Amino acid sequence: MNFSGKTVLVTGGSRGIGRAVAIGFAARGARVAVNYLSNSDAADETIAAMDGGPHLAVQGDVSDPSAVQRLFDDVIGAFGGIDIVVNNAGIYRYHRLEDVDYDQWQSAWREVLDTNLVGPANVCYCAARHMIERGGGRIVNVSSRGAFRGEPEGPAYGASKAGLNAMSQSLAQRLAPHNIFVGVVAPGFTDTDLAARILDTPKGDEIRAQSPLGRVGTPEEVAYAVLFLASDGAEFSTGTIIDVNGASYLRS
Ligand code: NAP
Repeated sequence: MNFSGKTVLVTGGSRGIGRAVAIGFAARGARVAVNYLSNSDAADETIAAMDGGPHLAVQGDVSDPSAVQRLFDDVIGAFGGIDIVVNNAGIYRYHRLEDVDYDQWQSAWREVLDTNLVGPANVCYCAARHMIERGGGRIVNVSSRGAFRGEPEGPAYGASKAGLNAMSQSLAQRLAPHNIFVGVVAPGFTDTDLAARILDTPKGDEIRAQSPLGRVGTPEEVAYAVLFLASDGAEFSTGTIIDVNGASYLRS
C-alpha cells in the first residue's frame, strides 16, 4: 500500500486507533492532518512519531457542524486538497437504562449521536463535496462490533455505530459514480484509552477471552484494515464493513 503524494484527514488522530492510522498513512508516504478535540499535546506526539510530512495538527470538534466546515477549510488551505478522509473520532458513554434518570438518558443519546453519527455525516458531506470537485476520493468510517453485538450498557453507542454503517453503505452507492469509495472498519475491543476503563478492571479478562486469540486488538491491526480500504485496488470493496475483532463476534 503506497500513499505517496496523497493527503489524508484523520478525525480523532491524536490518540488510539486514529494515531495508528495517521502513523500508518505517513509511513506509506502520505501527508496527514491529525484532528483532535482538546489534547494538543497528544496530537503533537502523534506528529512527532510520523515519518515524512510536513503533517498538520488541527483542532476541531466533529460534533459541531461549523467546526467541521472550519476543519475542512484549514486542511484544504494547508494541503491544497484532501484525497482520503477517515472518520475515526468517537466517544462511549455508559447510560444503563435502570441507572440513569430521563435527563441523563436524553443527554447521553444526544452527545453520542452528535459525535458518532451526525458529526461523521457532516464530515462525509464536506469530504464528498470537496472530492466531487476533485474527481474522486476515499472515505473510511470507523464503526464498532457493538453495532452488531449490542451495547446493553451504552445503547446510544451501538445505535450510533449501526447508523454509521447504514449511512456509509448508502453513501457508497450515492458516491461511486463520482469515483468516491466508502468503506467501514468495525473493530472489537482495542487497546486504547477508550477501552482502558473496562480492560483495566476485573472484567478485562472476560473481554480478552471473547476472542480465541485470548486478547484484544491493537490500534495497528485496526489501522491496517483502514489503510486497505483507502488503497488503490480496493475500489470494488466500496460499501463493505471489515470486522477486526479476533473472531470474538462472527456474522455472515
Ligand atoms: P480514544 O483512544 O478515546 O481516542 C479518541 C480520539 O477521538 C482522540 O483523538 C480524541 O481527541 C478524539 N475525539 C473525541 N471526541 C472528539 C470530537 N468531538 N471531535 C474531534 N475529535 C474527538 O478512542 P479509540 O479507542 O482510539 O477509538 C477510535 C474509534 O474507534 C472510535 O470511533 C471508537 O468508537 C472506535 N472503536 C473503538 C474500540 C475500542 O475498543 N477502543 C472498539 C470499537 C470501535 P483528544 O485526544 O483531543 O481527546
